[in-house]
Amino acid sequence: MHALLRIFRFTSALSRYYVAVALASILVTAGTIIVPFVLGAATDTAVAAVSGSLEVDAAVRRVILLAGAFLAIDFFSTTIDSLGGYAGDLMSQKMRSILSVRYFDKLLTLPQDYFDRELTGTITSRLNRSIMEVTNFVKNFANSFFTTLLTVIAVLIISFIYSPLLCLLLLIIFPIYMWLTALTSRRWQGLEAQKNEDIDVAGGRFNEVIGQIRVVKSFTRERGELAHFARHYEHAERLTADQSRHWHTMDFLRRMVMAIIFFAIYAIIFLRTARGQFSVGDMVILVQLVGMARRPVMSMSWIVDTTQHAIAGSRDYFEVMELAETERGQRPVISNSATLPGGTAPSQNDDAAPARPLTARALHQNVEEIEPDVPAIRFENVTFGYGTDPDVLRDVSFAIEPGERVAFVSESGGGKTTLTSLLLGLYEPRAGHIELFGSDIAGLPLGQVRAAIGVVFQDPALFFGTIRENIAYGRPDATEEEILDAATRAHADRFIRRFAQGYDTVIGERGLKLSGGQRQRIAVARAMLKAAPVLVLDEATSALDTRSERWVQAGLEDLMKDRTSIIIAHRLSTIASVDRIITLRAGHIDEVGSPAELAESGGIYAELLALQNDNSARAQRHL
Ligand code: ADP
Ligand code: MG
Repeated sequence: MHALLRIFRFTSALSRYYVAVALASILVTAGTIIVPFVLGAATDTAVAAVSGSLEVDAAVRRVILLAGAFLAIDFFSTTIDSLGGYAGDLMSQKMRSILSVRYFDKLLTLPQDYFDRELTGTITSRLNRSIMEVTNFVKNFANSFFTTLLTVIAVLIISFIYSPLLCLLLLIIFPIYMWLTALTSRRWQGLEAQKNEDIDVAGGRFNEVIGQIRVVKSFTRERGELAHFARHYEHAERLTADQSRHWHTMDFLRRMVMAIIFFAIYAIIFLRTARGQFSVGDMVILVQLVGMARRPVMSMSWIVDTTQHAIAGSRDYFEVMELAETERGQRPVISNSATLPGGTAPSQNDDAAPARPLTARALHQNVEEIEPDVPAIRFENVTFGYGTDPDVLRDVSFAIEPGERVAFVSESGGGKTTLTSLLLGLYEPRAGHIELFGSDIAGLPLGQVRAAIGVVFQDPALFFGTIRENIAYGRPDATEEEILDAATRAHADRFIRRFAQGYDTVIGERGLKLSGGQRQRIAVARAMLKAAPVLVLDEATSALDTRSERWVQAGLEDLMKDRTSIIIAHRLSTIASVDRIITLRAGHIDEVGSPAELAESGGIYAELLALQNDNSARAQRHL
């Protein structure tokens, strides 16, 4: 319940709507409650006319008056009800938007760690389910729960005036009901949480399978995946059966108790009327009022059910919203306001990513004012491991001068990618520190660190959208010339123009419509446009055949000009021209030197070089 109340506090920006809906509910309830009295008065009038104590003409006049009042009241409350319904719809939609957008906002501030752990589909499923359950409750609350509650209260008060005994009987229903509900509630919530877990996990797998459908198909894993997926739902089904059995047993008991109580209530009304303690009009009023209370009391199961779902939903919601592990200095953009960022971009946090990249000059100048001749990048005794895993990097120290090109070489899994992730501030070192142009990145806003670094990954992820949008991803404000220039320098312009739609060609999710080399060149153009002073190429060409590699390589050479570059490449031929090579072994720096020096030294580089030469020699022989 606590979690649910927090949703209201969390969306306090909607308080105008809450007030409007509450006001409408109060007016509608008042209208509903008056109607039985009008009918009661009409009944008494009719009875009086029949028994001769009132003239027929006078009775007719009074009945017409009462009929007019009835019509007016009904008309009024129907109007208010429609307006309230409209406000309720708007409110629940606004609440859905606020909760969804803030959830997304929160997710964007979570550290890389979180995304390493959770499946995207699970995140999506949890978001959709929890918000749907909360807004469903809110909508029902606005449209009926609140009116129901007010009606029951009004009926209790009125029945007290007529007969305290009646009121007491009605009142007794609630503690009994609540007690019976509480008996199963804890178990119900537990089963619900398990069931939701099942559904969210299945949703996670679903997303993965659809996203990697090629792999699924080529390994003919469709049946296996289907069975796996179905198993989660079967499990959820069994949990639901358990949950439902408990629920309906209790519901049966509750209803039986209520049937007995209502039997007693009606018996009292009719007996007292027969004894002349109530008039016929009073009887009409009471029968209607009790009827009004009976319907909601009977539908209380539904209300409790919806409420319990909403409580479970809001718990899940806040579980994510309250994750403490926020990326350093990042906080959600949206404050507690009714307006969403919508078309205009929200104002960024001061320390969040500035959309504008820092140019090499700007960054150098800033730093040169403080201290001349600082290295562009410096790792000092950096030790790091993932989560609770053992260290991947141990006591790693090196410095890279501005404009220098340095390659990292190790066996696969040696920690090269990890090193670049640390530089980007995706993870924090366990010990030691990392400097960028003389500033410890732990003290720099992450947005600035990342703005200073352009990255081309091995498997460049592109978005569903046009080629133009993908190239301009890091700089949505880039001009057409800038985009064309970047594409040309990345040697991508030629193949892009060969598409019928050119730069407007829509590429699929993850860029599936393009070949590896084409995707790679778009990624190079994207980095080119970002124009960051530091460049990281992590296996940027290893997915390519020799011919397209040559194209991409030409683009990369252009990109590396005047930049500090870190290059990680599988194919050692691509790093033969770097200034220095640093090799890693068992998490330590093994050797540092020029390609020529290391080729002679007999270390990892020399070993790998020999292996590759051997391979290419053999390939040549077989040609
Ligand atoms: P390289 O790029 O040199 O091939 P990586 O830096 O990718 O190596 O990986 C170094 C080690 O860290 C490997 O043992 C790998 O299993 C582990 N590793 C990489 N990424 C993660 C991650 N997100 N979570 C846990 N372990 C990881
Ligand atoms: Mg790697």
